[in-house]
Amino acid sequence: MKGRELKQQIPDIIDQVIKVGLGFDLHRLREGVPLFLGGVEIPYPKGLEGHSDGDVLLHAIADALLGALSLPDIGELFPPSGEKFRGIRSTEILKRAGELVRERGYEIVGIDTVVVAEEPKISPYKDRMKKAIGEVLGISPQVIGIKGKTAEGTGEVGRGEAIQAYAVCVLRRRDD
Ligand SMILES: [Zn+2]
Repeated sequence: MKGRELKQQIPDIIDQVIKVGLGFDLHRLREGVPLFLGGVEIPYPKGLEGHSDGDVLLHAIADALLGALSLPDIGELFPPSGEKFRGIRSTEILKRAGELVRERGYEIVGIDTVVVAEEPKISPYKDRMKKAIGEVLGISPQVIGIKGKTAEGTGEVGRGEAIQAYAVCVLRRRDD
């Protein structure tokens, strides 16, 4: 009896019309590695370390989507200890997060992001990043925001040793 009562209450909790998610990521820069940011390869002498291609922006977005669904983050879904995911493209990680959004009955209303990098400049690549992210998630680039910031020379990001990314997303329950 108790279980049934609980079940009746659960839909009110899980059936929210709007869900919000937040994601954050940081990767260290290393010489001689290609730099992938927002699904775009950027010509630069350093790239981001990681067992995937290190794309901090895509990782932050994927974590925001998973967080909105109250699911485990990408570290748990794609464990760095597992050989299976070594060298995985971050577009694959983001694609899986997007599939989970659909499987759970939601659609993406909007995504906003901040990339914190001393170098390189993000602005020349913003439109290509939005297009790449939009294609992976099956959404319009117009609902994606990307802002490039510097750390004003402070900390490891300011010294050019790492790049950070933040992302928020809003999901809406699908009608169908
Ligand atoms: Zn990451």
